[in-house]
Amino acid sequence: MVDIIVIGGGPAGMTAALYGLRNGRSVLVLEKHGYGGQITYSPKVENYPGTLQMSGNEFADRFLEQILAQGAEVELDRAVRVEPHDGIFTVYGEEGNTYEGRAVILATGVKHRMLGLPGEKELVGTGISFCAVCDGDFYADQTVSVAGGGNSALQEAILLSQKCREVIVVQDLPELTAEKKLQEILLARPNVRVLTDRRITALLSEGETLQGLALEVRSNGSSEEIACDGLFIAIGLIPENEAFAELVPLDPRGYFDANENCLTGTPGVFVAGDCRKKSIRQLTTAVADGACAAMGACRYLDGML
Ligand SMILES: Cc1cc2nc3c(=O)[nH]c(=O)nc-3n(C[C@H](O)[C@H](O)[C@H](O)COP(=O)(O)OP(=O)(O)OC[C@H]3O[C@@H](n4cnc5c(N)ncnc54)[C@H](O)[C@@H]3O)c2cc1C
Repeated sequence: MVDIIVIGGGPAGMTAALYGLRNGRSVLVLEKHGYGGQITYSPKVENYPGTLQMSGNEFADRFLEQILAQGAEVELDRAVRVEPHDGIFTVYGEEGNTYEGRAVILATGVKHRMLGLPGEKELVGTGISFCAVCDGDFYADQTVSVAGGGNSALQEAILLSQKCREVIVVQDLPELTAEKKLQEILLARPNVRVLTDRRITALLSEGETLQGLALEVRSNGSSEEIACDGLFIAIGLIPENEAFAELVPLDPRGYFDANENCLTGTPGVFVAGDCRKKSIRQLTTAVADGACAAMGACRYLDGML
């Protein structure tokens, strides 16, 4: 039995562990895949305060080293269910292992929806990105494409248009679906081109370098190609919170419905990071959540919440 079980070993979960441990609590972190979460896909992080530049893997390794040095227990296992009973939470792993804790922090993050094309995974971090705030600077004065036509895609495109030579928005529907205000801002930019009714059918690359996209015009089936140095995919995020929906209500988009204080309506359960309803999903906001959730859990364990 530990004081706090953290589900998810990304930046939010590892920060929660750190703050719990520094407050004298025993902490177990369950991670299903690899410690570090999404940031391990990024070869270069340049917007984490106090650090000029580092790779996502370096960030993750240092973080894991730090929580282990503070006494964290870690297990590679996917949590599939959490059952509360008389102030104790039993977490079930996918192979049937169980873990018991007095408080639980859910820090399960999100997955970015991908196009599902050959070579896509291999190009993440070298030609494909999901985050203009994070990676836009790497494409300064170059041509980039943005896949998607909703609010997120247009926000990415607007940001990129301030740095890149040309931004080509590729939308598979006949029109953009983003709110009108965003469309007006985007379309007023001289270096933006919008291609609607186009489905991306292939990534044109040489080794790890993206060179362009093959497109299908959906209304007539014809093919075309465009050249670009980078592709920003903004076709949606996928939270994976259903397994815990009985514990914490989800909003209509599947995110845990909790605000900045990371508290939930279930005593002893806290949420942190990209998995909760929020507007900015970044390392800084994830680690901030981790600290808030852990401090909340400590107050709960002290009977003060
Ligand atoms: C390519 C890329 C580049 C990025 N670059 C930057 C950048 O430069 N700067 C920046 O600030 N942000 C960047 N981000 C965003 C940043 O990585 C995320 O905001 C941050 O990782 C969120 O942290 P998190 O801990 O909330 O979630 P995640 O990083 O998603 O971590 C969640 C973890 O939980 C695990 N998990 C999920 N479900 C379970 C379960 N049931 N049981 C056990 N484990 C589970 C997952 O495997 C994962 O490791 C980037 C993201 C990507 C994809």
